[in-house]
Amino acid sequence: MDLKGLTKTYGTGTTAVAALGPIDLTVAPGEFLVLVGASGCGKSTLLRLVGGLDSPTAGTVSIAGDAAVPGRNVGVVFQQPRLLPWRTVGGNVELALRYAGVPRAERRDRAADLLDRVGLPDVARRRVWEISGGQQQRVAIARALAAPTPVLLMDEPFAALDALTRERLQDDVRQVGAESGRTTVFVTHSPDEAAVLGTRIVVLSRHPGRIAADLASPLSRDAD
Ligand code: ADP
Ligand code: ADP
Repeated sequence: MDLKGLTKTYGTGTTAVAALGPIDLTVAPGEFLVLVGASGCGKSTLLRLVGGLDSPTAGTVSIAGDAAVPGRNVGVVFQQPRLLPWRTVGGNVELALRYAGVPRAERRDRAADLLDRVGLPDVARRRVWEISGGQQQRVAIARALAAPTPVLLMDEPFAALDALTRERLQDDVRQVGAESGRTTVFVTHSPDEAAVLGTRIVVLSRHPGRIAADLASPLSRDAD
C-alpha cells in the first residue's frame, strides 16, 4: 500500500481546516501498522482516505497499483458498524465469504464459526436491528475476518468490548493478517494494544496531521 502526498483540508476559505498531510507512507504486505496520535490529529481522516470513503484534497492512495474499493481490496471496521439491514446477521458474514470465493455449500458453517469466534454463537438467524450496537461491531469484525482483503483498516474496533473478547479478537486479527499477508492499519488509544499488535507504529503530530515518528514495534515476537 502506497500513500503519496496524501493531504486533506476540510472546508474552504477562512473556515478551512488543514486536517492531514502531506503523508508519504509505504506499508508492505503482512505489516501490521498501528497508528497513534492525539485526538483530532487526523487518524480517522487518514483511514477514510485510504479506505476510499472520502476523497483527498491532494495526493494518491494505491493498493498494489489500484485505487481503494471498499469490500474488494480494502476492508474497513470503524466504530460505527455498517451492516446490511436487509440481511440476517449470518447473511452479512456469508456475503463476505461469497466475495472471498468460498463455495456456497461451505458458507453457512464458516459464517457460524466466525460468529462463534467473535463471541456470538446464537445470532446468525437474527436481524441486524435485533442485536445491540456492540454485537453489530463484532459482526463487522467477523465479516472482516471472513474476507481477507489485501488491506484491512480498523479504527478502534475493540474499544467497546470486554477484555476477554478483545484479547481473543486481537489474536484472530493478528493471525489472519500474518497468514494471509494482509496489510493492516489499526488505530488505537491503548499503548498496550499498540505494543501487542503492531509490527510497526506510526505516530501522527497535529495541525495538520503529519508523521512524527515511524518505529518498529518494541516487542519482538515469534512467528505463529
Ligand atoms: P482523529 O481521528 O485523529 O481524532 P480526525 O481525522 O477525526 O482526527 O480529525 C482531524 C481534524 O479534522 C480535526 O481537527 C477535526 O476536527 C477535523 N475534521 C474531521 N472531520 C471533519 C469534517 N468532516 N469536517 C470538518 N473538519 C473535520
Ligand atoms: P467516526 O470517527 O465515528 O467515524 P465521523 O466520521 O463522523 O466519526 O467523524 C470523524 C471525526 O471528525 C470526529 O472526531 C468528529 O468529531 C470530526 N468531525 C466530523 N464532522 C466534523 C465537522 N463538521 N467539523 C469538525 N469536526 C468534525
